[in-house]
Amino acid sequence: MIVQENYSLKQLNTFGINASAKFFATISSTDEFKEILSDQLFNGVSKLILGGGSNLLFTKSFDGIVLKNNLKGIELTKEDEDYYYVKAAAGEVWHEFVMHCIKNNYAGLENLSLIPGCVGASPMQNIGAYGVEIKDSFFELEALHIQDLSIHTFNNSDCKFGYRESVFKRELKNQFIISSVTFKLSKKPNFNTSYGAIEKELETMGISELSIQAISKAVCNIRSSKLPNPSEIGNAGSFFKNPEVSRNKYESLKASFPTIVGYELENGNVKLAAGWLIEQSGWKGKTIGDAGVHKLQALVLVNYGNASGNEIYDLSQKIMDDVKEKYGVELEREVNII
Ligand SMILES: Cc1cc2nc3c(=O)[nH]c(=O)nc-3n(C[C@H](O)[C@H](O)[C@H](O)COP(=O)(O)OP(=O)(O)OC[C@H]3O[C@@H](n4cnc5c(N)ncnc54)[C@H](O)[C@@H]3O)c2cc1C
Repeated sequence: MIVQENYSLKQLNTFGINASAKFFATISSTDEFKEILSDQLFNGVSKLILGGGSNLLFTKSFDGIVLKNNLKGIELTKEDEDYYYVKAAAGEVWHEFVMHCIKNNYAGLENLSLIPGCVGASPMQNIGAYGVEIKDSFFELEALHIQDLSIHTFNNSDCKFGYRESVFKRELKNQFIISSVTFKLSKKPNFNTSYGAIEKELETMGISELSIQAISKAVCNIRSSKLPNPSEIGNAGSFFKNPEVSRNKYESLKASFPTIVGYELENGNVKLAAGWLIEQSGWKGKTIGDAGVHKLQALVLVNYGNASGNEIYDLSQKIMDDVKEKYGVELEREVNII
């Protein structure tokens, strides 16, 4: 393992922000993580675990050590009548792992095809798309405690998954390195085409018999046509979460803004479409220097070239202030600010 100094992170974050790390190392095994974490040289030095860099925004260079997770391996650990239990090391690329599952007819992750990043980050915010979240197929994960180097196993309820949330973003923030994730994948697929766009795409594809392969392909087609490709325009997907408001608040907003988009939740609250709030506040397609709001997806902030992390951050703050002023709704950033 080599530790490099003043290492450029520009190619390692999908926003393409020109930041660097004081120290940088690529880690390929849990033993290497233990070795570096117990090195006196890095005692008291801040640590950042990096996967695909697709859910973070560097607002400054990182004055510590960045550990790029490169743990690899996929293993079928057991199976029973109904499920396959598939364990993937944290450094596996998420979409490649999903493709492995689809090839082997392990059902459950097909709606999550083409999400950028690595397996190890997937539980951090309980990644989700097209009506499915990883918590629906998550079995357990293994993680290394950064301070005492003990290995812990977390089951589904230990992770306290929520909408783009987990215990690792809250109480246990910066305390653990996730080293592997095990998914419980179905032998009898339970197809989820509840998102209208999937049904429509399957129709366009001329699919008459559903399969996890067809759903995955449909999701890939939709995502490729809708979302900006980070290798062409820097971005980190949805920059904000969809905010949750009380039913009363929703009713009063609806009275003033009849076209407002909201989805009822089981707890009685309503989730508002952040994209609608941003678009109606006039931000869709706007740019300030090289920082901008995507012209087709108001939820996606983009780097059109040489925007700094602070310029993207400032743009996000202006949007949040405007939405708050116009609708009285607080937007929350989904992307991790570093
Ligand atoms: C075009 C685009 C589309 C996207 N679409 C979606 C979507 O549909 N749904 C969705 O949920 N997300 C989406 N995202 C966001 C992103 O892809 C996911 O959040 C992804 O899981 C991030 O993985 P990563 O490996 O890139 O994490 P990184 O950005 O590298 O890290 C994210 C955070 O997790 C921490 N972390 C990473 N790995 C570990 C580990 N092994 N142990 C402990 N901490 C770790 C990091 O320190 C950081 O705080 C999208 C992003 C882009 C660019």
